[in-house]
Amino acid sequence: KTEPLSPLKKMYQDATEFYQHILLTTKTGENALKYAHDRELDEDLLEHFKIGYAPDNDGILLTFLKQKGYEDDLLRRSGLFVESKEGKLYDRFRDRLMFPLSDEVGRTIAFSGRRISNNSEIAKYMNSPETEIFTKSKLLFHLSEAKKAARSEGHLILYEGYMDVIAAYKAGIKSGVASMGTSLTDEQVYILKRITPNVIINYDGDPPGIHAAERACGMFQKANGFNLGIVVLPENLDPDEYVKKYGAQKYQGQVKAALTPIDFLLNRLALKFNLHNDREKLSFIDEAVQLIAPLNDPVAEDLYLGKIAKQTSVSIESLKVSVLRARRKLN
Ligand code: ATP
Ligand code: MN
Ligand code: MN
Ligand code: MN
Repeated sequence: KTEPLSPLKKMYQDATEFYQHILLTTKTGENALKYAHDRELDEDLLEHFKIGYAPDNDGILLTFLKQKGYEDDLLRRSGLFVESKEGKLYDRFRDRLMFPLSDEVGRTIAFSGRRISNNSEIAKYMNSPETEIFTKSKLLFHLSEAKKAARSEGHLILYEGYMDVIAAYKAGIKSGVASMGTSLTDEQVYILKRITPNVIINYDGDPPGIHAAERACGMFQKANGFNLGIVVLPENLDPDEYVKKYGAQKYQGQVKAALTPIDFLLNRLALKFNLHNDREKLSFIDEAVQLIAPLNDPVAEDLYLGKIAKQTSVSIESLKVSVLRARRKLN
């Protein structure tokens, strides 16, 4: 495990430390440090997540890395710079709070930078481009650390964003990883599968987050063998906002109360129909039965059918007949 760093990873390590140094110890970093403090990132969190600051300067990282002796070719391949038509290099990240993205042993292989101004004409986050060491679809933020925590916590929790992982960490949940947006990939699902079958999805509580959680459910179910939980936060909040508003304890309660995928999907389904109308009620039952049919656990089946029976005033016995019929069609 002590294999020497590749030159590119060494460069990323140097860049990480450089940005950290600017954030924590320089006048140039003061504004960004204030932004970090306003978002309740204290020194311990900044250190754990190796957060730094890329100043509003188009050559400071370039100068630093050149002084360290890095060759032009490696600088060009690093993704840390943009190239002018004339082939001149400029720092890619400017005036951004820098979140290192790391490989499975915790070495920086890319960055995501958050703008600290509230100028919404600039993209909120900007990522390194893909390079020989960074493939976005195969990366989960905070995986190297979360992997270790998963052993003691017994699960991994999947978030959308960096700040969500960090807020959870602060609230005592150290097994958080982020898919870095709502478009989870099959590669990410496969990586999680190697670590633990127990995955809790906690995407943002807004409509895009809830849709993404539905989609993620389908992907995990297709991958087989997961024991999934889904947390849906109220008031459109994301986990970071929830912790800020309600505190760590309430947040831990939300995680403990995670729904089974079937409960989550049944809740979602029920919202799509007007259950006071018989025609819609029948469509609801039809789709709900499709969700139950693949289960081969009679106890779980009874549990869910009991709920559907209550919602629709249809007997469990009739629902069971429908499930059997749907199940026969599956096989
Ligand atoms: P913040 O709390 O800093 O405002 P967020 O994490 O709540 O950010 P969301 O809009 O919920 O932001 O996006 C979730 C995640 O998606 C982000 O943390 C980031 O990983 C990714 N993301 C969002 N916008 C972009 C973007 N413009 N480019 C690249 N990644 C992005
Ligand atoms: Mn979101
Ligand atoms: Mn969010
Ligand atoms: Mn947020």
